[in-house]
Amino acid sequence: MPFDFPEPWRVKVVEPIRRPEPDEREERLRAAGFNLFDVPAEAVFIDLLTDSGTSAMSDSQWAGLMLGDESYAGARNFYNFEQTVKEIFGFPYLVPVHQGRVAENLLFSTLVEPGMIVPNNNHFDTTRANIEVNGGAALDLVIEEGKHPEVEHPFKGDIDLEKVRQLFEETPRERIPLAMMTLTNNSGGGQPVSLENIRGYSELCREFGIPFYIDACRFAENAYFIQQREPGQGKRSIPEIVKSIFELADGCTMSAKKDGLANMGGFLASRNTELIETIKQRLILIEGFPTYGGLAGRDLEAVARGLREVLNPEYLRFRISQTQAFGSRIAGLGIPIIRPVGGHAVYIDAKKFLPHIPQAHFPAQALVVALYRQGAIRGVEVGSVMFGRKDPESGADIFPELELVRLAVPRRVYTNTHLRYVCDCLEEIRDLRGQLKGLRMTYEAPVLRHFTADFEEIEAVRQKELV
Ligand SMILES: *Cc1c(COP(=O)(O)O)cnc(C)c1O
Repeated sequence: MPFDFPEPWRVKVVEPIRRPEPDEREERLRAAGFNLFDVPAEAVFIDLLTDSGTSAMSDSQWAGLMLGDESYAGARNFYNFEQTVKEIFGFPYLVPVHQGRVAENLLFSTLVEPGMIVPNNNHFDTTRANIEVNGGAALDLVIEEGKHPEVEHPFKGDIDLEKVRQLFEETPRERIPLAMMTLTNNSGGGQPVSLENIRGYSELCREFGIPFYIDACRFAENAYFIQQREPGQGKRSIPEIVKSIFELADGCTMSAKKDGLANMGGFLASRNTELIETIKQRLILIEGFPTYGGLAGRDLEAVARGLREVLNPEYLRFRISQTQAFGSRIAGLGIPIIRPVGGHAVYIDAKKFLPHIPQAHFPAQALVVALYRQGAIRGVEVGSVMFGRKDPESGADIFPELELVRLAVPRRVYTNTHLRYVCDCLEEIRDLRGQLKGLRMTYEAPVLRHFTADFEEIEAVRQKELV
């Protein structure tokens, strides 16, 4: 694989982006209380906040928008969408939704009751929240290797089948309404799951009579990793591998904001017609009639076309190699990252990179601030700001194990040159890292504080005293 595989598209429409001058960046940081969620996107040059809903659509998708049929019921775009999902995933029944979490909400509010358990490799935050809000417990059973950032493993998203068997044997069948598997494992760093592991999990589910659902957000990226890394899969096409994956499942939830290559959309699909019929009643209450599910006809068309495009081997080779090369370059600068690089993002280990900033002063947030200050680049903190808590009894801080900065790569949006610019800025930050300042949180909301928190910087001298 060449270091930089060339972009398999050419530019037809451009969206200008602007790099604010250093003075403006400084002002923006202060105005936002050093929280990058509060910086307007217009003032960001390279935005690596998320790969969700940020994809660039193709000329065919944009053309598809003009073919939008905005009839309330039975729009032609729905039938194309339905046919596409059936062909690619093989599930006979489905409902469209406006984004992935609604599919989760519909599925779990129908199946999960208080005291029930849903296992997964790692639950994504909205998945966990939708299980918990129905009184269920979201259990993460990823393999041991998946918990250690420095351990190399080709399929770090695999689930621990021994633990699954143990859970199934020890728990009454009616307490496990369904089992989930996330492809790729987003909360574990975008790590893929092997076909063998999916098969093993599926067989266990069948043995114990438990429905098996896949969180399919990055199904095509996962299929590409299987093709590249799994023995015996190298000669099979991506659509064939995708078929083999979903044949093993009873249904899936999907956010088309990821591998749907669209800016909005999703679906819930299943082999269980009764379940889908029940869910349609709830869908009508919260999303809309079952042939549009919260989406315009034109959006359904864009998603249908995106789902076919994402299977293109040239696209996938570029997509995955771009993220891999980005990670290799950052690691090559001597900056510690989570290994191996997953499909959609590179995670920098800020605790290791900035050892002079204690966890109480948010080292990963300090690096997020430095990236904006240095190059108007936006990444996201995945550490104590996002996951830190106070002990309810003692009031002491409880810190997560890792302090990470996630640099997510939007699909088909940035060229290799853009990402090289990010690496150049990181190199400059590396050379002055000893001067980076920790932060103190001056405002925090009671829930999901990372979206709205405010900070102030701690002067370097005081920082040493405070340690
Ligand atoms: C994004 C995501 C979801 C939720 O999808 P939304 O479209 O953001 O609601 C669920 N699971 C995983 C793994 C995701 O990455």
